[in-house]
Amino acid sequence: MQSGTTPSQTDRSAALKLAVLNSIKRMERNMAYNGQGKTTPISEYFGSNTFGLAQMREKLPRDAYQSLLNTLEKGKKLPKETAEAIASAIKEWSVTKGATHFCHWFQPMTGLTAEKHDAFISIQHSQHSELRVIERFTGSQLIQGEPDASSFPSGGMRSTFEARGYTAWDPSSPLFIVEDEAGKTLCIPTVFFGYHGQALDNKTPLLRSVEALSKEACEFLKLLGDVDVKRVNATLGAEQEYFLIDKNFVSLRPDLMMTGRTLLGSSPTRGQQLEDHYFGSIPSRVLTYMQDAEMELYKLGIPVKTRHNEVAPSQFEVAPIFEDVNIASDHNVLLMEVLKKTALRHGLVCLLHEKPFAGINGSGKHNNWSMSNDKGENLLEPGTTPHQNLRFLVVLSIILKAVHDHSDVLRASIASPGNDHRLGANEAPPAIISVFLGSLLSEILDSIEAGKALQATESQIIDLGVTKIPNISRDYTDRNRTSPFAFTGNKFEFRAVGSSQNVAVPMSVLNAAVADAFQKASVKLRELLKSKKSRDEAVMELVRLNVKATKTVRFEGNGYSDEWKADAKKRGLPILNSTADALEVLKDKGATQFLVNQGVLTEEEIVSRYHINVERYVKTLEIELKTLAEIAQGYVVPAVESQITRLSATASALTSASVKKTYGDRVKTIEKTLERLLKGLSALNEGLEKLSGSHDESKKMKTLATTTKVLGEELRNACDEAESLIADELWPLPKYREMLFSNSLS
Ligand code: ADP
Ligand code: MG
Repeated sequence: MQSGTTPSQTDRSAALKLAVLNSIKRMERNMAYNGQGKTTPISEYFGSNTFGLAQMREKLPRDAYQSLLNTLEKGKKLPKETAEAIASAIKEWSVTKGATHFCHWFQPMTGLTAEKHDAFISIQHSQHSELRVIERFTGSQLIQGEPDASSFPSGGMRSTFEARGYTAWDPSSPLFIVEDEAGKTLCIPTVFFGYHGQALDNKTPLLRSVEALSKEACEFLKLLGDVDVKRVNATLGAEQEYFLIDKNFVSLRPDLMMTGRTLLGSSPTRGQQLEDHYFGSIPSRVLTYMQDAEMELYKLGIPVKTRHNEVAPSQFEVAPIFEDVNIASDHNVLLMEVLKKTALRHGLVCLLHEKPFAGINGSGKHNNWSMSNDKGENLLEPGTTPHQNLRFLVVLSIILKAVHDHSDVLRASIASPGNDHRLGANEAPPAIISVFLGSLLSEILDSIEAGKALQATESQIIDLGVTKIPNISRDYTDRNRTSPFAFTGNKFEFRAVGSSQNVAVPMSVLNAAVADAFQKASVKLRELLKSKKSRDEAVMELVRLNVKATKTVRFEGNGYSDEWKADAKKRGLPILNSTADALEVLKDKGATQFLVNQGVLTEEEIVSRYHINVERYVKTLEIELKTLAEIAQGYVVPAVESQITRLSATASALTSASVKKTYGDRVKTIEKTLERLLKGLSALNEGLEKLSGSHDESKKMKTLATTTKVLGEELRNACDEAESLIADELWPLPKYREMLFSNSLS
């Protein structure tokens, strides 16, 4: 260590140097890459690490494949022989690929994924009782597992004496091999449930919601005249935002290490005002990373399509081509894992937190959602025939009804401590759920509601004989970045979902809400068909009724404005600003009844999810606040002390009386900050202490969300003030400026 510098100062500048060196190294590697590799067409290795329906069709005996299709399409139980045949084909493929282990891969309610690995081996006794190891994988190993479930959250659903949990293969999602330095493992996507069949994961409700939606939508479409429709699938394309920060910096920031976000740090002089990062050229170090991650994703059959810089410095986005919601949801979970793992190999850390840096744009995950029938027609595609147009309009009105009736539960489905920092922060959609349709559709719906003739040219109107409907083209739709739920031409974009979230949760609720609205629509349409002259007329009347009933949820203006908050209140829309408010919705049986009716969650499962979310909120905030207190105590206060010592030493060496006085003032200023810091620290510690006495988690959540959180904010402000007063070389933590802008050097 050099004399005159503190250890932390050495660490910090060393980290900075390393970060720069790393970028250079990556850049060189990138150049080497451009010269050779990366020339294989993606189509040649896309999905090479997956085993799904296509591979099964190829590798399975015909009757086994047929019986698997029966299971998938008609929900029939998989016969034992079929399971054995499939297991055998899977084992062949996996072992040839070099996989030594398999695991049931599931999504417990921790928000992460879980896996327990088993080797593909079995011991055989030969004639002379020698042990022989062979590769073995049976049908029952494929279909069911029994991980020790006692340490996964159940929200009180399992008492300890029946703490058993089971995993069961979800044949609708492809199996995949995860490869890394340590070897290769076959992962079997599974659902995870308790002894009495209670869902203990995020995938089970999603699968149930997919079924509910298909059933209700088909029933309705049949009334509409689509008699041969067999299935309706929800589709999802999830745009994923993330930050990339040099690993050297992260390892020096206890807050990033422990909580995935910075708990203090004053904003850099240049944030994103210039907006020069958005869609700018991607730094070469980052591009190398992206290409590496994409290659992994392609091998896993994840169809990522676009990549670009996002608004904030060091923020990026990747978006896939849409798929069936269940597969897209599994793929998003996997994508998040691949992004994180690959980053580490590149000396980077991928931050998926919704708000890693205060004052800088946060990250979301726009969920592009639609529905398609078994012919592959998108039900939200404005059509070319009168029938398609009518179907489009009525489906649109049904989705309006779904969001209108269940906006509170939709809001609850995206509630998390991380998303609290983002929603309504003037960069992300507000916490109030509303729907944006664009001016053309709004006008059309308004005139339908008023029963007025449509104001449009002949070519924009389709005459159905008895009634006229608008001829809608998707090019007419405009954009609104401030809406949490926006129509974007041929799909909706649920934009309020958090970047780190498992999308299965909001997607289950959305599917269930739409299923519920379809069910109500079927009831109404049956009634109208009796009283109206023609089906088209009855359907138009249904559209009119839905439009009328859902007016309050439509909003075309600026979602960031204060007027909107006041307006929303007048309209009676639920305003649930924080997780603590939003989660209470799960305790309202009236609000969640549709989930029960649609068979997506039982009452017991809903209650358990409430408890799990509350507990997670409490734990997250406690960890954040304790970490903040530790940093204030261990890093910031000592840095202030060093600065005071330095100022006082300089002051006593000074000869000019006036400069001496200035120094005296400087010491006084920084002493005030020290006082603020010490006061803030003891207030926060006291607040945390008080909480630890309570065992009522709901109460704790409320206290944390109001008083304790504010104590944390006050301490943070004092820390940030200290940062601005302290010599750069005495500041012990990597600064926002360094962390956010070092990538742009490469
Ligand atoms: P936009 O310009 O509206 O953002 P893009 O074509 O770039 O539209 O698509 C954004 C995301 O929406 C992509 O992930 C895309 O796959 C997805 N998407 C497109 N069509 C659908 C659909 N019918 N259902 C679900 N997602 C879709
Ligand atoms: Mg988009």
